[in-house]
Amino acid sequence: MFIGHFAVGLAAKRAAPRLSVAVLFAAAQFADLLWPVLVALGIEQVRIQPGITAFTPLDFISYPYSHSLLLLCVWGAVFGAICAGVVRDGRVWFVVFALVVSHWVLDWITHRPDMPLYPGSAKVGLGLWNSIPGTIVVEVAMFILGVWIYARSTRARDRLGTRAFAAFVGFVFAAYAANLGPPPPSVAAIVGVGIAGGAVLLLWAWWFDRHRNPVT
Ligand SMILES: [Zn+2]
Repeated sequence: MFIGHFAVGLAAKRAAPRLSVAVLFAAAQFADLLWPVLVALGIEQVRIQPGITAFTPLDFISYPYSHSLLLLCVWGAVFGAICAGVVRDGRVWFVVFALVVSHWVLDWITHRPDMPLYPGSAKVGLGLWNSIPGTIVVEVAMFILGVWIYARSTRARDRLGTRAFAAFVGFVFAAYAANLGPPPPSVAAIVGVGIAGGAVLLLWAWWFDRHRNPVT
């Protein structure tokens, strides 16, 4: 899943208005931010296998540290503790923990059975990616709902608060559409786009969120 994770991060702004949506995205996307780094280091493995699912050609051979349920619970607990400490609000822990673990649940729904429960476990996955229309309908509906909840939970302080947010939404849709194009040329390209794209989207989110105030 791709834009569905951003949808969850946007919606979480309502539950944790004091956290930048960039932090909420980092939590919901923690698995996919860690993953390209671990692939680059040779710790996790992926290969390009066109046709392995209808929606994506990626064959996730092994990714126990970024994508097992157990490790995501650990990362979520740690990330949640850091955020709760920074804003001095214990409730924030639950929001951040739930976001990090939500990544596993959403990927479990979309991936073929390649998602580990813990390193070395049997792998599970419901395979929504076997249907291109099903994947698009679910993710686009989630994303629109997330945008709507975020837009209602915050108010633009200035023009940038409206325009930078609208541009972000358009960019994410365009990136999602580009996903439907030809498969990536190499694993190195996936890693590069994953790391650079993740950094750009987080900075962009930080920027527009600073130009919007939570509605209290
Ligand atoms: Zn993922």
